[in-house]
Amino acid sequence: MRGAVRRALTAAVLAALALATTACGKEGSPPAKGPQPDELPRYRVAQGFELNDSATWRGAKRRGRLVVGAKEDQPYMGEKDPATGRYSGFDIEIAKMMAASLGFDPRRISFRTIASANRETALQNGQIDYYVGTYTINDLRKRQVGFAGPYYEAGQSLLVRDEENDIHGPGDLGGKKVCSAAGSTPLQRIEDDYPQADPVAYDAYSICVDNLLTYQVDAVTTDDTILMGYAAKAPDELKLAGRPFSKEPYGIGVPKRDTALRFALDDAIEAHQKNGDWNKAYDATLGLSGVPAPRAPAVNRYPAS
Ligand code: GLU
Repeated sequence: MRGAVRRALTAAVLAALALATTACGKEGSPPAKGPQPDELPRYRVAQGFELNDSATWRGAKRRGRLVVGAKEDQPYMGEKDPATGRYSGFDIEIAKMMAASLGFDPRRISFRTIASANRETALQNGQIDYYVGTYTINDLRKRQVGFAGPYYEAGQSLLVRDEENDIHGPGDLGGKKVCSAAGSTPLQRIEDDYPQADPVAYDAYSICVDNLLTYQVDAVTTDDTILMGYAAKAPDELKLAGRPFSKEPYGIGVPKRDTALRFALDDAIEAHQKNGDWNKAYDATLGLSGVPAPRAPAVNRYPAS
């Protein structure tokens, strides 16, 4: 493609992506795809629920609100509408289910955007009560925070421009600029296992996608869930390449010492999988990006350490 044409096209795509997020929620301009509030399930709020062993729960009760960490730029998973401030996506629905099980009306959640690199600190400092945002459970992170779940299993994948023909998997990244988020497991995996690749890190994946569309990087790597969302928003410009090459079990991050909260959230995940809420939430959010509905993984209630 000639330079000028390519630049014009890229500008159009970036504008369309921006529009897709800003237009959401405004009258007369609904997004092409995406959850509408009236299509989302409602969750039964537990009455008279108490979790006095949890310092986090007691703090939230006193405050009258839950403060939940999330992502704001991951379509169908965790996305914030800049016009209304409303968060939506599968992770947001999981956060609401959890709130309902803890005895809080989901309208009493204050969401805070926390980047991948800042999640452990936010939980350790008590900035948030729990975190739901494509957060992979692993042993390294378990030294710093607790994880309820998993509630979903994703896999690392690659996003490339539609005309890309050379990248089919991580083995093809030699000499290629590949963008990911600082503090994420996918970035770490590229650095550890694919030393021929040229990794580039930003705070958020949406910056990587802008860089991909403007030819500053050759690929974006992170979980398939996140990449499918971006590809679904720009299907003519972006595509996934190859098969997932890792397992990324998603957990709900909690303060490490608050085992009572962790076990209560494990119970809640199981209950919402059983009563069908999990599936309904999936269909109304992530299902729209074309990721086939997986089977929910089994919760791993590991002992306190
Ligand atoms: N699931 C991966 C992680 O927790 C990538 C997605 C993210 O950065 O949130 O690092």
